[in-house]
Amino acid sequence: MLAERCTQRKTYHTSQETTANSSSPSTFMELQSPTVTYQNYHLLLSAIALLLGFNLLYILRSNAKKRRKSKEIETKLSNDADNDGLQLTETGGNTDVIIVGAGVAGAALACILAKDGRRVHVIERDLTEPDRIVGELLQPGGYLKLIELGLEDCVDGIEAQQVFGYAIYMDGRNTKLSYPLEKFESDISGRSFHNGRFIQRMREKAASLPNVKLEQGTVTSLLEKNGTVQGVYYKTKDGQTMTAHAPLTIVCDGCFSNLRRALCKPKVEVPSCFVGLVLENIDLPYANHGHVILADPSPILFYPISNTEVRCLVDVPGQKVPSIANGEMANYLKTVVAPQIPHELYDAFVTAVDKGNIRTMPNRSMPADPQPTPGALLMGDAFNMRHPLTGGGMTVALSDIVLLRDLLRPLRNLNDSTTLCNYLECFYTLRKPVSSTINTLAGALYKVFCASPDPARKEMRNACFDYLSLGGMCSEGPISLLSGLNPRPLVLFLHFFAVAIYGVGRLLIPFPSPKRLWLGARLISGASGIIFPIIKSEGVRQMFFPATIPAYYKVKAPQVA
Ligand SMILES: Cc1cc2nc3c(=O)[nH]c(=O)nc-3n(C[C@H](O)[C@H](O)[C@H](O)COP(=O)(O)OP(=O)(O)OC[C@H]3O[C@@H](n4cnc5c(N)ncnc54)[C@H](O)[C@@H]3O)c2cc1C
Repeated sequence: MLAERCTQRKTYHTSQETTANSSSPSTFMELQSPTVTYQNYHLLLSAIALLLGFNLLYILRSNAKKRRKSKEIETKLSNDADNDGLQLTETGGNTDVIIVGAGVAGAALACILAKDGRRVHVIERDLTEPDRIVGELLQPGGYLKLIELGLEDCVDGIEAQQVFGYAIYMDGRNTKLSYPLEKFESDISGRSFHNGRFIQRMREKAASLPNVKLEQGTVTSLLEKNGTVQGVYYKTKDGQTMTAHAPLTIVCDGCFSNLRRALCKPKVEVPSCFVGLVLENIDLPYANHGHVILADPSPILFYPISNTEVRCLVDVPGQKVPSIANGEMANYLKTVVAPQIPHELYDAFVTAVDKGNIRTMPNRSMPADPQPTPGALLMGDAFNMRHPLTGGGMTVALSDIVLLRDLLRPLRNLNDSTTLCNYLECFYTLRKPVSSTINTLAGALYKVFCASPDPARKEMRNACFDYLSLGGMCSEGPISLLSGLNPRPLVLFLHFFAVAIYGVGRLLIPFPSPKRLWLGARLISGASGIIFPIIKSEGVRQMFFPATIPAYYKVKAPQVA
């Protein structure tokens, strides 16, 4: 209907132009012959009257057609509702953007779009404070994005902890990697916190804005007409089924998204699960640092989330975890995991297991593969996921929001669905270099950090730990990628293969035996087998050469950091 309205407006414009043009030859004739007869003058007037009459008739007809069309849509809507056995109620048609889900992405987006003057309707399934083990460490690159969005005060007053880097442990050795923050003010660092507290602060901020309507409700499906999304169907807190309309619907319903299927081709993988515990009243060996233990079979993480609590996430490969209910999980944590963690943390870890507040969460990864749809956009985990080992999810989501805000700013009329679609296609292309670097790093590092019986993979893991321990650019490059401060695809590619070449060099120097040569070749082939499939799924062209994609030029792009 929107497209039709555009066409109608265009046709009306053209007929006005035709009127002007057709009158000009007559005027020219008048000037040419001074002896214009009364009859000619009469004929000219009749022609003009005829044209005006046609014009008037056309306008009246198109108005009637418009009225008939909207009547048809209304009837169809109520028929649809009747067919479903639902009682639909219309919400007011004065919304610019509907946001589904008020998690990290949805709540931040609501604040930002509302600050830009858009009228925003946020529909969130559960407005109580979430209690989850996800999204607890915001990398410094993500914190910088939070500042760009003017939301940095959302980490104030929630006991958020500053994070300055990581400590990596392997086989009784450890190395400290500091974020390259020298160029920044002292306030700039990573932040770790209770995810629910952070989200609640952003929701409060959004709800305090006069042009945001934050409502509790569950969106059941998208409202689509002729290939254009025009809003959503949702169930309110008290079970009423409603529809909401807006020219743009942004779906941010998280990693378990039910709505993404209509807007992308989801290829979700679950390489592992995280098992979460909280350690209380314990100091980490390196204060204000994340700790990564390269354990067997896979990594273990520790980082502070409040003044007195430390989050521990134990990675368990595969989609199944030992049962918590029958005690298998506690047994696994005490017998397999506990012996591998630093001795300073051992007692607190066992106490946390005994306390029993064990939580699990699948670690999903899904490359972004959007199907540009007029009127709708996916954001956050609904759109794109990566292994949470490197804590990159919130940084990608916030970076996407900055980009979208800057792109949409000049577009005051969101009702122009064709132009809006160009903007959305451009967004999908411009976000690629940053998001795919963070995604690829997460996937590749997870594979390198997992223990393996394969000697080539063992060599790669050892080489990676030793490469990071070398310091200088060997630690600064990778940590600047991980922190989100320098998410450049080429830097990632070069460091990844530098690790592999470093591993081969160690094998061949000083005495390259045929066996070592063969192991070196397998190391390189293993490294390629890790990184190339991830890069392929992200899209080689979009990741490394986005400027060769036509969508890049569809709108005047803002500067991408
Ligand atoms: C174990 C784990 C640990 C992680 N750790 C980190 C980390 O340390 N750092 C980091 O940056 N990232 C981390 N991530 C990733 C991070 O959590 C996500 O990237 C981030 O939460 C994505 O935000 P989102 O808004 O897309 O989704 P969410 O924050 O999950 O929000 C989705 C919202 O949508 C609502 N919703 C869902 N369905 C509907 C519906 N039908 N109608 C209405 N509302 C709906 C939900 O209630 C929820 O509030 C981790 C992920 C996992 C799995």
